[in-house]
Amino acid sequence: MEASCFEKIFGRCSELHCFAPGRVNLIGEHTDYNGGLVLPCAIDKGIHCAAARRTDLKLQFYSDSYPQDGVRVYHSDRPDLQHCWADYPFSVILALQGFGYQPASGCDFFFGSDLPEGAGLSSSAAVEVVTAFVLHELFFPFLSRQEMAVICQFAENRFIGVNCGIMDQFAVAMGKENCALLLDAHTLQHEYVPLKNAALVIVNSGVKHSLAASAYNQRRQECEYACRELNVSALCSLSPEEFERKKQSITSSLSRRRAFHAVTENQRVKQAAEALKRQDYREMGRLMRESHISLRDQYEVSCEELDLLAEAAWEIPGVYGARMTGGGFGGCTVNLMEPGTVSDFTGSISSAYLKKQGREPAVYPVSVSSGVTRCEE
Ligand code: ADP
Ligand code: MG
Repeated sequence: MEASCFEKIFGRCSELHCFAPGRVNLIGEHTDYNGGLVLPCAIDKGIHCAAARRTDLKLQFYSDSYPQDGVRVYHSDRPDLQHCWADYPFSVILALQGFGYQPASGCDFFFGSDLPEGAGLSSSAAVEVVTAFVLHELFFPFLSRQEMAVICQFAENRFIGVNCGIMDQFAVAMGKENCALLLDAHTLQHEYVPLKNAALVIVNSGVKHSLAASAYNQRRQECEYACRELNVSALCSLSPEEFERKKQSITSSLSRRRAFHAVTENQRVKQAAEALKRQDYREMGRLMRESHISLRDQYEVSCEELDLLAEAAWEIPGVYGARMTGGGFGGCTVNLMEPGTVSDFTGSISSAYLKKQGREPAVYPVSVSSGVTRCEE
């Protein structure tokens, strides 16, 4: 499919075809930049890329999500951005060069996607990591997956100007089939935790509030403020008990609530990983619900639509747990349920949302997949 699309756009055959998954975070929201733990997994929706080397230094990008933009042309020896989607893959090439990986020639790239954009499923990381992986296959056999994640995060921070943590790129590069990834976002220590015999469904509220970016930066500031008053370098270095003892030193009650979320959420990630290891999905579900309530009431990054989806899911038979996932103010919920209940869940959640919001949400049952891979031609 991607090979024939590549041929149509570029008028020649592609050399290879790679796939990068999106990711969903099961629990551990707003913990990554607080030096804490996250528990994402890669999903079977994502971004395909067909590519081929060129004989000159041009870099050409085409996405079937942006046909109106046509083929975007960049030059590997000119670091000029164009303020369009293709800056994402081009940034990865600039970042690779910065880390000492200079491609020997230019390249043409075709991207095809079945991942909704801006919904908190990390389409940006999927575009970045699939680009890095293509270059790994063509030019840099010794570039490790972990290094790819670090370089792609650097690209998004430095060239796109989005101050994201490492979770997205790490999950997309390092995910494993039927496993969640327990990741310490500060040290990059990680562990695979089996996730079997339960179904995962993502529900897209279809909303993205304009608040998201400014509120994200504000939350980061509120957490930094709390850190200074607590005299710690990262909130998640504190256990809930230590936090209880020290919390009065935070003078702003708002910052105290933000810090309370980060500390307790980090603890919930640890408990969630243990619950998954025991296949104790009821406990996992309880923790997901607690996480949502804390994001709603303490961190204040939920919104009416996400609350409606999570709260409705909690009442549906077979559902172990549900919560908002991603930064907040729109995007998706993640729902964990008994296998065999997915189609009833889909009907129930759709009609609950339709009744209150006047439209149906998009519902995606997903399976937990491996990280970026090269596909057979
Ligand atoms: P997400 O939560 O999906 O990562 P972001 O706002 O971080 O949302 O990233 C979305 C951006 O990533 C898009 O605006 C676009 O620039 C880029 N992107 C995502 N998917 C594609 C695609 N299929 N083709 C081209 N660019 C894409
Ligand atoms: Mg993103």
